[in-house]
Amino acid sequence: MKIAVLGAGAMGSLFGARLSPLADVWLVDPWAAHIQAMQRDGLRLVKLNGTESVIPVQATTDPAAVGDQVDLAIIFVKSHQTASVARWAGPLLKPDGLVLTLQNGLGNLEAIASVLGPDCGVQGVTAHGATLMAPGRVRHAGQGETHIATRPSIVARLTDIAALFQQAGFETHLSDNLDSLLWGKLIINVAINALTATLRVPNGLLAEVEPARSLMAAAVDEAVRVAQARGITLPYDDPQEQAKSVAIATGPNRSSMLSDVSRGAPTEIDVINNAIVREGASLGIPTPVNQTLVWLIKAIEATYSVERNL
Ligand code: NAD
Repeated sequence: MKIAVLGAGAMGSLFGARLSPLADVWLVDPWAAHIQAMQRDGLRLVKLNGTESVIPVQATTDPAAVGDQVDLAIIFVKSHQTASVARWAGPLLKPDGLVLTLQNGLGNLEAIASVLGPDCGVQGVTAHGATLMAPGRVRHAGQGETHIATRPSIVARLTDIAALFQQAGFETHLSDNLDSLLWGKLIINVAINALTATLRVPNGLLAEVEPARSLMAAAVDEAVRVAQARGITLPYDDPQEQAKSVAIATGPNRSSMLSDVSRGAPTEIDVINNAIVREGASLGIPTPVNQTLVWLIKAIEATYSVERNL
């Protein structure tokens, strides 16, 4: 199978590292220092047990270098880049090729469909986590299940893709309940990302420090009300307990939104907490805690250039 990983940051590098020994995989990313490091030295993957291995990978900043068309493009950029990367994917895809997003938040599949039409996009969610340590070096930060939403017309191709992921060590399941998958992950991101980014703390602190725990619970409560009003069945019984246990299980990890604000990069607030605010507004459900988190993160983004050593 030929695969292009579009966006080879933390998660693209993790999936690229695991899939490269099993398939014809290309990592495509505009970050030249990272691509050059992988071309020169291979991709260094720090595993969950702390050991490090070097994996030879095919990496490029130029989508045209991928050559023959691919069976699968996996999109792993941040959400504000999804539509522009879908434009890269178009010419790279075989006529029956698929574009899989395992990104967080609402709206990525719609962004892919707005560029490539409704037929080739596939939504998944993954509980794996990764952190970029340096150009060419990624740390596998956490593991869990990967779910891919299927439909009858593409089930055979997705079965092959799931088998390959499984072989690469990603426990993968096909599901026909896209909303449940997406909202199940969204509520965890609502709980953890914006709060860790505003407080500048690793995930576990949210469960340890009482006022942070209350804020997390309030943000989750609003999101669950919105999900319920939309008729979504979440993939777990107790969202509050789920959010707390994920924060504890991923305790030392830095969320991707914390990594974004630490390096002055745009965050995914619009597809996470702001998605709850938008959906809540359309359903008449108040979401003041999520609205406050959105304003805080947007204020942080708007003041990246301000000196912090006051
Ligand atoms: P990332 O920030 O690591 O990479 C995204 C883009 O930013 C890439 O193009 C990358 O090359 C570039 N980039 C990263 N660090 C850079 C630096 N120091 N200098 C210049 N460019 C840099 O993104 P990610 O964490 O892999 O997330 C990709 C998608 O996967 C997002 O939608 C995210 O929500 C989702 N996701 C992330 C995790 C996680 O643990 N990181 C887990 C599940 C889903």
